[in-house]
Amino acid sequence: MVHGASVGRELGSGLLGQVICPDDHGYDAARAVFNGMFDRRPLAVVRSADASDVIRCIEFTRRYDLPLSVRGGGHSVAGHAVHDGAIMLDLSGMKGVRVDPETRTVRAEPGLTLGEFDRATQAFGLATTLGVVSVTGIAGLTLGGGLGWLNGRHGLACDNLISADVVTADGQLLRASTQENEDLFWGIRGGGGNFGVVTSFEYQLHPVDLVLAGALSYPLSVAPRVLRFYNDFVKAAPDELSTAVSLARTPGGEPMLAIAVCYCGPIEEAEQLLYPLRTFQSPVDDGIQPLPYTALQSALDARFPSGRRHYWKSGWLRDLSDGAIETLMQYLPLMPSSVSSVGLQQMHGVASRIAPSATAFPHRAEQYDFLILSQWSEAIDSDRNIEWTRALFQAMQPHLEKSVYVNNLGDEGSGRVKAAYGQNYARLAALKRTLDPDNLFRANQNIDPSPI
Ligand SMILES: Cc1cc2nc3c(=O)[nH]c(=O)nc-3n(C[C@H](O)[C@H](O)[C@H](O)COP(=O)(O)OP(=O)(O)OC[C@H]3O[C@@H](n4cnc5c(N)ncnc54)[C@H](O)[C@@H]3O)c2cc1C
Repeated sequence: MVHGASVGRELGSGLLGQVICPDDHGYDAARAVFNGMFDRRPLAVVRSADASDVIRCIEFTRRYDLPLSVRGGGHSVAGHAVHDGAIMLDLSGMKGVRVDPETRTVRAEPGLTLGEFDRATQAFGLATTLGVVSVTGIAGLTLGGGLGWLNGRHGLACDNLISADVVTADGQLLRASTQENEDLFWGIRGGGGNFGVVTSFEYQLHPVDLVLAGALSYPLSVAPRVLRFYNDFVKAAPDELSTAVSLARTPGGEPMLAIAVCYCGPIEEAEQLLYPLRTFQSPVDDGIQPLPYTALQSALDARFPSGRRHYWKSGWLRDLSDGAIETLMQYLPLMPSSVSSVGLQQMHGVASRIAPSATAFPHRAEQYDFLILSQWSEAIDSDRNIEWTRALFQAMQPHLEKSVYVNNLGDEGSGRVKAAYGQNYARLAALKRTLDPDNLFRANQNIDPSPI
């Protein structure tokens, strides 16, 4: 029987990093993750400092047949970074980042948040697609796909991956790229943490300067008309313009609609392009303005503080039809929590034109990532928030695809993981059988290695 203290004694002495055991100061902070629904107690938290620590941790875990979870930025809404009785391999201290402005590439370690990454690359006027909340981790986000403001112009985060260093279940450090371990490289571009622990990512960067960005806000009374106009408007929008919809409540509690935009091309062109959207119906507020990219990337942070309880439901939405709008209008006034929201993140342009089989992430179409983001603080409110989320998700079924973005999933069972990978699931399962037949990496949206 292995105890936390013996992990500390046996593994800790060989590490550059640190082992935090249940009796240690800092254990509670180390096991905390973004989603406050998960109050789990790992056997020990292993804070790796480099790839050799990761290899040692994996070998130790295998030797004692211990369960393992992997933490990057800790933002998985399913809470997969932490598990009761498991070794929690915490990569959050690995924050090395090195930009090469000549080749417009960056090597980034898996503990970086989006904000830390953007800060480093923007010093050179460069960026790549990441998500829209700057405290999220680059690792889990990239490994599942990575949908953000630059997706129309530059593809998903995983589409900008040039190579990665991966420690596999047998403790080997492999380099994955289009030239080396191509199958593994295919699998980590969407397949999450199923195949190994990534200790370094190499991304392509792009020149990104000021963007024209911000939100238009409207009362719910005009939302159907605005959403219909918006749905037509975005279909004709260029790759440089990415948008998102948020249905939420104002600080005063009133349901409202916000349409947020980011134009990453020449700003003069954007003023004219956005004119119809900004004028056809007067907004209560028009916050669209030239912004430093890093300001846009952190604009939503205050709405997602760590530690609140979260319950999300999601699916791809091909079209914002009248029926879908009607359903949203019916359910929004009933939303129990004043800090919840319903979001539609537009996927389009370059991200949508890549072949579905080119990466493990298969959802290549012009569409919206529809997401019910319920959040609240007190356990006593959980039932009614979960009930409302499920009811809206159920009501939206006629309008949604059967598929879902893996990074939005909670613990929803193997059928939903298969729905997240669709036609790519069989190849992913074959890769998993080769690289991780014993399913060491199973604290995730798991691809089952057992024969189908
Ligand atoms: C507030 C918020 C905003 C979000 N916004 C967006 C968005 O705009 N776009 C988008 O695409 N997604 C978004 N997401 C979803 C996000 O992509 C996932 O939550 C993702 O898992 C976060 O990565 P992380 O490293 O922080 O998570 P973690 O919880 O640390 O990791 C999640 C899982 O990824 C795997 N993993 C993490 N690091 C590694 C590694 N180095 N090697 C191998 N496996 C690893 C593990 O299986 C781990 O359990 C958002 C999530 C939140 C909570």
